[in-house]
Amino acid sequence: MKKLFRNISLFWVLIISLLLATTLVWQATRWAYTDALNTLIKVGGERMTLYSGTLHEALSRYAYLPYVLSQNIDIKILLKSSFNADLVNDYLQSLNAEAGSDTLYVMSAVGDTLAASNWQDPQTYIGHNYGFRPYFTDAKSKLKGRFFAIGATTGKPGYFMSHSVCDNGQFLGATIAKVDLTPLQDDWHKGGETVLVSDANGVLFLSSREDWKYRTLTQLSENQRTMILAGRQYGAQALELLPLETVEVLAEGQKIVRFDKALYLFLSRPQEDLGWQLHHVAPLAPVQERSQAVMIIGIVLTLLLLALSLYGRERRQKQISRRKAHQAEAIQAMNLRLQAEIAERNRTESVLHETQKELVQAGKLAALGHMAAGIVHELNQPITAIRTQAASGHLLLDRGETGKVRETFSAITRMTEHMASITAQLKTFAHKIPPKRKERVVLQDCLDGALNMTASMFSDFGISLQTEVPAAPVVLSGDQVRIKQVLVNLIRNAVDAMKNSEKKVLQIKVTALPQDVEIVIIDSGIGIDEHNMGELFTPFFTTKDVGEGLGLGLSISYRIITDLDGSIKGKSLDDGGACFTIKLPRIQK
Ligand code: ADP
Repeated sequence: MKKLFRNISLFWVLIISLLLATTLVWQATRWAYTDALNTLIKVGGERMTLYSGTLHEALSRYAYLPYVLSQNIDIKILLKSSFNADLVNDYLQSLNAEAGSDTLYVMSAVGDTLAASNWQDPQTYIGHNYGFRPYFTDAKSKLKGRFFAIGATTGKPGYFMSHSVCDNGQFLGATIAKVDLTPLQDDWHKGGETVLVSDANGVLFLSSREDWKYRTLTQLSENQRTMILAGRQYGAQALELLPLETVEVLAEGQKIVRFDKALYLFLSRPQEDLGWQLHHVAPLAPVQERSQAVMIIGIVLTLLLLALSLYGRERRQKQISRRKAHQAEAIQAMNLRLQAEIAERNRTESVLHETQKELVQAGKLAALGHMAAGIVHELNQPITAIRTQAASGHLLLDRGETGKVRETFSAITRMTEHMASITAQLKTFAHKIPPKRKERVVLQDCLDGALNMTASMFSDFGISLQTEVPAAPVVLSGDQVRIKQVLVNLIRNAVDAMKNSEKKVLQIKVTALPQDVEIVIIDSGIGIDEHNMGELFTPFFTTKDVGEGLGLGLSISYRIITDLDGSIKGKSLDDGGACFTIKLPRIQK
């Protein structure tokens, strides 16, 4: 499941990264394209400024000629009287050679060429009528005319500049300078650039590309065609539409066009004074190549990054799996170690168990031995005494001293009672004591009884007794005899512990608590050894010599007290002696 989630998240990370990378690459490509295009537009604009300058310069260089000729007196005479033709021809020829223009010529008021710089050429203009040319009609009506056309006689294209010749307001004719723009066009061509000039009708009359020459940028209307034909402007040229497909208009005079499957930046700038448009056409391929290069670099970089990140991920995965394998090995080794340890522990445990069992067995046997020795010792004395008393009873009977025989019997009875009390104690362990019916017991009565039974011991060993007992009777629910027995056991133990002490004080404090009564018995005896503490209430545990104790007192007391829903605890005191505390539930009167 976790792996599935990891795979899904990896898939999305990849998708998002790819999307981001694609967006970035696309943006970079776009930016590169726009930047290169802007550069191309800027460079194209600069080139157009240059070409416009050269064009204007080429034309203005000869603009003065028609005017100068119109002021020539010989020409005026020629126009008025048809004299001077040779003189004017020579003049025109020499001036034309000097100025560098294509042809200079003079037309009469009806458009006949009277003199020309090419008077010696077979294709001389002399004798031809060019009255149909707009530059002539313009000169006639507007003083001067400008016109680009293919020469009607020579077939050579040129720019015609005319000026009217007047005398006292009478139109005599016109002087014309024809300028050859082919060198300009050749210069553009040599520059390797596509520079075009179109006229007001959109006809490309100057073009550094030969195949585009005399093609039109827009479809010519019938009217336009008629007018062009009338002026014989472009001779027999078909003036076909140049199939430029506009792909995108970037701004005024800036567009992207498709020609012959290739894209070009097509810049146009109007030449206001001439009524023409100058065009600069640059192939868009470098722009596309640059953006494509950026795109390819972007894609390669993206793929490289992707490959690197995948490789990095693979390496990380391998490292993780290696680490995991190491960890697994370590865990396996640890498991093996643990198993070995567990097996060892189990073995030790079973050995311990065995040993324990043996010890328990040994302990039981020891306890049994101890108990047997105790019982033997306890019972031996009365048995010996009974035997002695019985023997002396026989003698007394023989002597007829019946009074003394009675005493002997009484002694025997006491001894058997003593024996019975010993065996009665043992009986507590032989069977479970049947629960006696609980009765109301006044604690003070039990304590008095116990103290009475042990009173002789106090005097024998010089023990002083201090009691703190409430005056009001403290009532318990239980068995008076058994509670008394517990108190006797504790007092006896305390006396035994103090036998050899310097200070022999026994304190008994009874406190009536809200729910319980607390009985504290403190002695100034030898105290309890720390390592015996855990065994204190174990049956047959005794530190006393054989015959002095059976090790049953505290265990019997424990049993009695817990039977009565109470508790008993013993501890050694820091300044010597021991303290036993009993708690028993009280009955509220
Ligand atoms: P016994 O008196 O026959 O030895 P108990 O069960 O009454 O048997 O006591 C067990 C052991 O507890 C004693 O042998 C003794 O070592 C220890 N003991 C009991 N009471 C005291 C006490 N007040 N001071 C010191 N040791 C005590």
